[in-house]
Amino acid sequence: MSNYKDEVNKLLRLESNKGCAECDQRAPLWASVTLGVFLCTRCASVHRHVSKPVTFVRSCTLDEWNEEQLRKMQSMGNVKSRELYEAKMPRNVVRPGRDATFQQVETFVRQKYEHKLWMKKEEPKIQYKTQPAPKTNLLSFEVEQVAPTPKPVIQKSKNDVA
Ligand SMILES: [Zn+2]
Repeated sequence: MSNYKDEVNKLLRLESNKGCAECDQRAPLWASVTLGVFLCTRCASVHRHVSKPVTFVRSCTLDEWNEEQLRKMQSMGNVKSRELYEAKMPRNVVRPGRDATFQQVETFVRQKYEHKLWMKKEEPKIQYKTQPAPKTNLLSFEVEQVAPTPKPVIQKSKNDVA
């Protein structure tokens, strides 16, 4: 039987997971197993407050891990999750820093994961049909005549001074 916690700790040594998913604090020791992100102690406590079903926090050192949780961490991670959940984040949105309040981090976390405000849209799966593309008959192509827009007539009042 493999030790899932050891595998999780291997993931923590990857460059992509060396900073907290929210605030970049070095050496995160917590994880959200629903989102697949590694978190610092402060941000983990915010995630724990936001709680299920949005996020579910585990300790990388204290808690027991199962295979499903490990797989989630392996398939996501901190860099990939930002690409997904911060894809459309406007530049004026500032990621909470170390001195951010609990409330500020909570607002950020809820906007990011609960309301998915900046999440990348799933690419629609294009299904190519095997039919040949229809031929375009250029001769039958009609150019729409655009009528010139009449100029607005400005009626000057007699009282206006030219
Ligand atoms: Zn953090």
